[in-house]
Amino acid sequence: MASPITGSFQLMKSLNRSVVLNTIRIHGAISRSEIAKKTKLTPPTVTNIVNELIDAELVLESRSGKSNGGRKPIILTINSNSRYIVGVDVGVNKVRLAVTNLNGEVSKRKVEPMPVSKALNEEEFLLFLKKILHSFLEEVSEGRDKLIGIGIAMHGIVDHEKGIAIHGPTLKLEKVPVKDVIEEEFNLPVRVENDAKALALGEKWFGAGKETDHFVCLNVGEGIGGGIVLNNRLFHGNNSLAGEVGHTIIDLNGPTCSCGNKGCFQTLASGQALKERASKKIEEGVETELTKIGNREIEGQVIYEAALKGDVVAKEILRETGEYLGLGILNVIHFLNPSMIIVGGGVSKAGSFLMGPITETIETRALSFEAQKTRIVLSDLGEEGSLIGACTLVLSELFTHEHGNT
Ligand SMILES: [Zn+2]
Repeated sequence: MASPITGSFQLMKSLNRSVVLNTIRIHGAISRSEIAKKTKLTPPTVTNIVNELIDAELVLESRSGKSNGGRKPIILTINSNSRYIVGVDVGVNKVRLAVTNLNGEVSKRKVEPMPVSKALNEEEFLLFLKKILHSFLEEVSEGRDKLIGIGIAMHGIVDHEKGIAIHGPTLKLEKVPVKDVIEEEFNLPVRVENDAKALALGEKWFGAGKETDHFVCLNVGEGIGGGIVLNNRLFHGNNSLAGEVGHTIIDLNGPTCSCGNKGCFQTLASGQALKERASKKIEEGVETELTKIGNREIEGQVIYEAALKGDVVAKEILRETGEYLGLGILNVIHFLNPSMIIVGGGVSKAGSFLMGPITETIETRALSFEAQKTRIVLSDLGEEGSLIGACTLVLSELFTHEHGNT
């Protein structure tokens, strides 16, 4: 007998069930006859499937639809809190964990610092991941039978089909079989994806990319990752490398990157670049609020706070970083011509200082009038974007029967 845990996925093995469930999700509230019209399934088929979904508590019915004079029609909605997903975002310095419902709403969150982050070998890393997941699950109040899977967003290059973290230049881990190990430990479906691609998927389902078919999402934190959505689907390229925009080279004589090359986009426009610009100004002895921060480390947040107080040097650092971000985004626009670029990750918190120089760079340098007007927006999902994206990896499979797509 299928365990209640894998039951949700077992149920969705029929493509028609996924289609009906996803139609209800997309429309929010819909009647059986409208589902039949939209899916081209016969009304009896829809009725059977809906009954199964109601039995499984994935769908709710109520009589609150609009009536045309007679009885109100019965409408169906997703029972968002009937199941939950655990999302994990593995960064360079910390791992964040969260629980979301079927609607991507976060109900519980936790941050675990990475132990001596740059020295973990594969075995230690996997042990650490298992340990923090066990401890997080013990704190989750929802029943284990309602947990449908674990989604993991990882820094670095990830083979999303096999769930292997192929290469992480900063964590220095190679070919780690994350999916197999975590699935075996927890007896649950596990999905693994690069963090920027997970963020893009989260934006497609729940954020700024909901209405957009082609967009690129940049995860600007310590480094810069990219997630490409083309025709409503995540694009992975031949070897999962697509979207590594942070390592496109924009200055041959620029700073050395974690990948070993010089002048990668992320060395000039990431959180790391912000810190280095600030340190340089301080070394030069320039007068700035940044010298008065006491024991706090100079990082993006500190620079942003100083800029908010009107510090000229902090504002200049953010402006310069915004210009470089604009240049990298310009390359993406010329290469892919997306209708929207979403900027997320920690650095996007300083968006009020960055958006001006970004749009100015694009408006003065893009090749065509249309390209100059490409929409550049900040992530709707904020700091938890990759984490919500990690949960969406599991949701996308439940609802659309297709891993890693929307
Ligand atoms: Zn690089």
